[in-house]
Amino acid sequence: MPDSMRRFARHSFLFITICITTIFLFSWLSMWAIHEAPGIGTVVFPTMTIFLLVFHAIIAGFMLMKYICEKHRLYLMPIACAFAGSALLMLGTLSSYPQWYLCDAGRLINYNDAIIFYFFRNIMMAVLFVIAVVLYHFRKHDMHVRSIHAWILTAIGIFMASMILLSWLYSSKHPLLNVHFIDNLTYTFTPLWRGMTGWFLIALWCITLIILLTVSRLRNIFWYSGGFFCVCYIVTLWDRRSHDKYLDSYQNSIRDPLTRLYNRRYFYDTLTQQLSRTTLAHPLSVIVSDLDRFKRINDQYGHLQGDKVIQFVSRVLQNAVREEDVAARVGGEEFALLLTNTSATEAYNVAERIRQAICQQDPKRSDGQLPEPITISMGVFTATEHDLSAEACVQRADQAMYAAKEAGRNRVMVWQ
Ligand code: GH3
Ligand code: MG
Ligand code: MG
Repeated sequence: MPDSMRRFARHSFLFITICITTIFLFSWLSMWAIHEAPGIGTVVFPTMTIFLLVFHAIIAGFMLMKYICEKHRLYLMPIACAFAGSALLMLGTLSSYPQWYLCDAGRLINYNDAIIFYFFRNIMMAVLFVIAVVLYHFRKHDMHVRSIHAWILTAIGIFMASMILLSWLYSSKHPLLNVHFIDNLTYTFTPLWRGMTGWFLIALWCITLIILLTVSRLRNIFWYSGGFFCVCYIVTLWDRRSHDKYLDSYQNSIRDPLTRLYNRRYFYDTLTQQLSRTTLAHPLSVIVSDLDRFKRINDQYGHLQGDKVIQFVSRVLQNAVREEDVAARVGGEEFALLLTNTSATEAYNVAERIRQAICQQDPKRSDGQLPEPITISMGVFTATEHDLSAEACVQRADQAMYAAKEAGRNRVMVWQ
């Protein structure tokens, strides 16, 4: 092996090792921070996205200026477009976090959209990096005339625009196309992502890295940075592919893992908060529900089928409430709803609608989720003053629910 080759292999190896160590260290640090203070999770992700967005926009600007000054460096333009396009797609990612700027608990996050923008960002950047490397290889050829540059730049522009357009069409912002990489209810990656898509993106970046290393030979800091980007993407993708749960520690700390409804603690915290603002003009309703004769379902069909029933009911509950309400799983097959600005009559109507939606289901209509028809008993309590505790509210709704059980189940009772 010639000396230069050996040196190049040594540099590449050292470089990739340093990259991976840095990335793991950074990833470990951020996971540690989020674990220690889960509340920062909702703020960290959008803040990092904004930071990267500005960073990418600045890189794009620099590349463009350098190209304007030195027209023979055409290979800078695909890189400029990669970063500019990436910055634009990050705007899409940010829009999946509609309330991040309010430091809201993040109920409305559309994780699937965020990952769709991420997917197209990967493809766009990897392809443009390869184009840049190819143009770098041919930089000394006779192609630096205005017309050739114009053709190449137009083609790159069209490619970039089509990636942005496709990501928008596939996201929930447009009904035409759709793809599911994450289930927004359970926060798990779909088999599509864990299988083909994840591997495809990893392979794409590996090929890009190999082309970049062999053509550029890491001649200067510019290509070192390019290589660093490739390794970053490979490691992050590997990380995302090997976990089936989407890593969001804050969401995981406030959600029930089986149903992805809110957990008991979050329900009580929110109820306490909301109670302080409750008045006669702004009543607050709590609905407590318990599935009827659920032990029998477990005994007869097994625990796994029982879990499916719980998930099915959770979905009905989640779909029955507004975005500003809270649907929580507070016990095994016990649920609680918190309805803001809702009077007793309105809350009764909501509960009655849910009860009917559940008892009208059967195995066929529920797509096999229910092994047999089931029913639910519900109790409603409405607070119209702020000096009640959260526990007292739930206790009253509970009492109404037990009255419903005693009265024969499959009914809604309002606390008197
Ligand atoms: P009732 O109409 O009086 O409510 O009768 P029930 O059989 O539903 O009685 P109860 O509410 O006390 O029973 C709760 C049962 O729910 C007990 C337990 O076996 C089951 N359960 C609790 N958590 C889970 C869970 O996570 N998964 C499954 N499959 N079952 C659960
Ligand atoms: Mg129960
Ligand atoms: Mg029960």
